Amino acid sequence: MQARVQCPRPDALVMVVLVRQDADGPSRMPVLTVPELPAMARHLERVGIPAVKVFASPTSRTGDERGGVAADSLMARAVATLKDAAPGLTVMTGTCLCSWTSLGECHHTGRDGAIDLPATVEALAAQAIAQAEAGVEVIGPAAMAPGQVTACRRALDETGHGRTQIMPHLVVSSALYAG
Ligand SMILES: [Zn+2]
Repeated sequence: MQARVQCPRPDALVMVVLVRQDADGPSRMPVLTVPELPAMARHLERVGIPAVKVFASPTSRTGDERGGVAADSLMARAVATLKDAAPGLTVMTGTCLCSWTSLGECHHTGRDGAIDLPATVEALAAQAIAQAEAGVEVIGPAAMAPGQVTACRRALDETGHGRTQIMPHLVVSSALYAG
């Protein structure tokens, strides 16, 4: 008996992209710069892919989460550019701290070297608000911090973003991208 192969339909797919200030450097994910996003967004529209999930990796690390919540952050500029190019495209984001902390960890660390969970969750909630204000429909807490989803939901609801959805995730890169 022949196995039946089911191909996913374009409208069931989400494009995943890592946005950088420059597209150099190794990555297992598709990498684009902000000026390259409109062409990608229009291509997704043409082929019927309704959503894009954006990760942002700035060149300079601020050492705290302020870079992730600034109105002109790399993520905010990427989202605005995508929405301008393809207003009907659903934009999802990675909501996490590893692009901003000095060592690339997805959490804040206390003076004793242990994970500072309250500070981490608070920073994620602030980033969720900033991303919702940039126009994101689905934020994606990715720090694996207990309480992150509850804190993001509460923060979004309290700032008038009750319609912004949350889809946490665990894996941000995979060898599958490398073929
Ligand atoms: Zn992270």
